[in-house]
Amino acid sequence: MTVINSTEHYLFEHAKCSVCRGELKPPFVSLDGAELAIVRICTVCCKKLKNGLSVDMVQVSAISEMHDLGYHGMTLVRQSRKQVEADERKRKEFIFNPEL
Ligand SMILES: [Zn+2]
Repeated sequence: MTVINSTEHYLFEHAKCSVCRGELKPPFVSLDGAELAIVRICTVCCKKLKNGLSVDMVQVSAISEMHDLGYHGMTLVRQSRKQVEADERKRKEFIFNPEL
């Protein structure tokens, strides 16, 4: 993954953003394949995707590492902190008062 910061490194004059198909102007991100950049993300899309994309990559890496440890067929699902806390409260309520 490379950040293209100037037109000096801008080798693809007619390249489009892989997400919005808009024009690419530095700065933008280029994910390089074997010989050609296969994914390019413009400045606007980087701003929109910056949190989600990095979190998705961390999740994929964590699932892969879990599989490498032998937990094949297992996966990780992200939940909001509020949802995890609500689920935990329900679990504790059930443990201490299973008749509910
Ligand atoms: Zn874009």
